[in-house]
Amino acid sequence: MTECIFKLADWQQLRKSKMFDNCSLGFVPTMGNLHAGHKSLLQHSIRENHITALSIFINPTQFNEITDLKNYPRTLEADINLAKEAGVDFILIPEYQEIYPDKYRYKVSENEFSKILCGKNRPGHFDGVLTIVLKLLMLVKPHHAYFGEKDYQQLQLIKEMVKAFFIDAKIIACPTIRNEQGLALSSRNSLLTKEELESASLLSAILTSSLSIPEMKDKLMNKGFIIDYIEEHLGRRFAAVRLGNVRLIDNVLIDK
Ligand code: AMP
Repeated sequence: MTECIFKLADWQQLRKSKMFDNCSLGFVPTMGNLHAGHKSLLQHSIRENHITALSIFINPTQFNEITDLKNYPRTLEADINLAKEAGVDFILIPEYQEIYPDKYRYKVSENEFSKILCGKNRPGHFDGVLTIVLKLLMLVKPHHAYFGEKDYQQLQLIKEMVKAFFIDAKIIACPTIRNEQGLALSSRNSLLTKEELESASLLSAILTSSLSIPEMKDKLMNKGFIIDYIEEHLGRRFAAVRLGNVRLIDNVLIDK
């Protein structure tokens, strides 16, 4: 049985109950609009834990463009159905006021890796991400928390934050789920037009090709992409591009 929980006090009371004694709790934080990428995180958690909790919370502090926040797809009913079918035990659906009683006076910042790649073009984005993840980890108190490699910079920053603050949760990385054309699944893909969706799959094809980075950029620009960055770090190639109004990110292991 899947239970939806809207009030933090209800969750906090439940979390202290006997039900969780001697059980491992897996946690999958999301912003909803669930797709097969999220589902794979849920499946990992369900396989590896006695109890799985999913959170659905569109975190305003990580959006640096108001239109991006406004346009973010909201599909709560379908999300609940997907979670039920997957076998999730608890879905936390908190409200902004409960998550941010401090009105975001307190935040977590990282000063190196969060300043490059997506951090460069999206000031404050990772402060928002790290702050919400810290809040959720403190609330949920999972043994294992699952994050996608699709957002590799975020995953790396979260792993290091957990270490820096001695948080008692293991962060587990899950591989990027892609469609048949190789496009990394993302909630933002639903905002692409049909033509843009077709072009979007070029991104992963080009990132995994043997072209040089300038050649990759040229090829993508010729196909109508605007490039935020293509850069290599930590043995991976990272890219952020725009197609129309939609910003897409991806990263792949560098095949040497
Ligand atoms: P979001 O709802 O976009 O905040 O994502 C919630 C979690 O799902 C994050 O850990 C993401 O990295 C992960 N995720 C999103 N898309 C994918 C994907 N295509 N494959 C694997 N994980 C994903």
